[in-house]
Amino acid sequence: MANIKCIGILTSGGDAPGMNAAIRAVTRAAIYSGIEVKGIMRGYRGLISDEIVPFKSNSVSNIIQQGGTVLKTARCKEFQTPEGRKVAHEALVREGIDALVVIGGDGSLTGARIFAQEYDFPVVGLPGTIDNDLMGTDLTIGYDTALNTIMEAVDKIRDTASSHERLFFIEVMGRECGFLALNGAIASGAEAAIIPEMSFQQDQLGDLISNGFRKSKNSSLVLVTEGDITGGAMAQAERVKNEFPQYDVRVTILGHVQRGGSPTANDRILASRMGAAAVDALLDDQRNVMIGIQNDNIVYVPFSKAIKKNKPFQEDLMRTLKILSI
Ligand code: ADP
Repeated sequence: MANIKCIGILTSGGDAPGMNAAIRAVTRAAIYSGIEVKGIMRGYRGLISDEIVPFKSNSVSNIIQQGGTVLKTARCKEFQTPEGRKVAHEALVREGIDALVVIGGDGSLTGARIFAQEYDFPVVGLPGTIDNDLMGTDLTIGYDTALNTIMEAVDKIRDTASSHERLFFIEVMGRECGFLALNGAIASGAEAAIIPEMSFQQDQLGDLISNGFRKSKNSSLVLVTEGDITGGAMAQAERVKNEFPQYDVRVTILGHVQRGGSPTANDRILASRMGAAAVDALLDDQRNVMIGIQNDNIVYVPFSKAIKKNKPFQEDLMRTLKILSI
């Protein structure tokens, strides 16, 4: 068993609902095992500027239900330089922190991996991102809440779309990953999803229109993943306006509402399990791993694997969406 006396926790990069539940779980699981805990504010920036506070069990009371992160989060360019990471390491040594739990997305875990290797420092990561874009885990903390937010928003848009007989393009987050768009479309009964994974293979919009996707409907809802690969919702709408002027097109960009809100039960449970597992992993002498979940089992995923791009999406989901939108 590793001889760890004090764990530091930080949240970094884009925030996600459920991060607080993860912070709570790491804190309580560590204290339960007799380990001291310190909260590092504002991600890697707080390490560099030494914004580090002691965390007790009651420091994480009453936060499981809150969105966002009580540790705050930030983006920190200095941490991308060897000089910045040296300052960060000095702060950890000064504070007596001998292991780190980093909660964040692929950028944060990339930083964690580089730091852990450079200083041979025990670091365990938790996948905190609404995009569900990390490899080696079926789910990331925040994804389920964002999906529910999207579903509720699309339900509302449907009311107005069907009253006016309109075609709506609804842009959702996800960067290079279509999980939110695809599962959001299935959950809300939308007609289609335009996702990055399919963008290089086929003209998704062209195919939709040539298949007469509005034939039996008085309105249509299409979810589109943000970003350069799909072009986003505005680009789809522009194209329809130019090529198919018979359609009354509207665009809604859901934006940051997807990041907020009280986490769902699934996200709270996932974050709680993963947070407790992070402490187990450190005690088990694991380092340089992200906690993942596969088939409802906790797994350790090497950082190098977790941050690889191009997480495969399930093609049967696209088929299901197509079948159900006739
Ligand atoms: P996310 O974790 O949500 O993907 P970012 O990509 O913005 O968010 O990354 C968050 C932070 O992680 C960055 O501001 C930086 O401090 C750190 N980081 C990202 N990439 C690297 C890298 N290659 N080397 C060191 N640190 C990095």
